[in-house]
Amino acid sequence: MRVASPSELWFNPKMLLSSLLFASWFALASDGSSGNASQIVWPDAAAVQLSSPLPKCGAGYGRALPLLPDGPSYTRSEESVSHGSALLIEGIRAVAAAMSAGYPDTQRILVGRLNQPGGARNKYLMHQDGLDGDVGIYTMSGEQAGFGREATPQTLDKEHTWAEIQRFFATGKVMWILLDQSLIDTLHAWLVSTKQLTPEQAARTFPGPGYQGFLAGETVMHASGHKNHMHVHMKCVE
Ligand SMILES: [Zn+2]
Repeated sequence: MRVASPSELWFNPKMLLSSLLFASWFALASDGSSGNASQIVWPDAAAVQLSSPLPKCGAGYGRALPLLPDGPSYTRSEESVSHGSALLIEGIRAVAAAMSAGYPDTQRILVGRLNQPGGARNKYLMHQDGLDGDVGIYTMSGEQAGFGREATPQTLDKEHTWAEIQRFFATGKVMWILLDQSLIDTLHAWLVSTKQLTPEQAARTFPGPGYQGFLAGETVMHASGHKNHMHVHMKCVE
């Protein structure tokens, strides 16, 4: 399946530049012919299989978007910004349920901003067409970061935050995740030092401030303002 370039790369000038520079590379990668680094087999894939097909890019604009209902394994923020494509809604519910089942003693995932009901444009540049969602990350204090509470490299609960990231990627329908670089570096170093990932696998998942990697999907990239949540961007098709 050809997975389209996300419609909103321009929130970060560096990403926009990279999208231009690597447009031809992406055309290859998205057709599955990329000779990319070692494949990662995400655990718990069976637990987070999603039934919704990839939405069309931009299909949410001006349309009714489903509402994330209240659920037992996550805490939702404002209802007015809790809408998204069926795939996003299903993905968040499935990952939250899988985390709750796998780690029954941990915090419920906080779900922050998704999208407005009509896929309306807004000041956030993303969160507009149903593909984007902000979800909490785990801290050692026993409370999720989110809603204004930031995690640091010292307070980040690496095990559970990594488990959450793995489950999102295990759906096969998450394009990328945004997180602050300080937290990315913390995860990266921990995963390699504990041999949970090879350096090559880690470099594939955390390609760093450079360009290559994130357009191929299933990468964790830096964005400022992401010390208290991760931003999940779903794949879409043209
Ligand atoms: Zn976001």
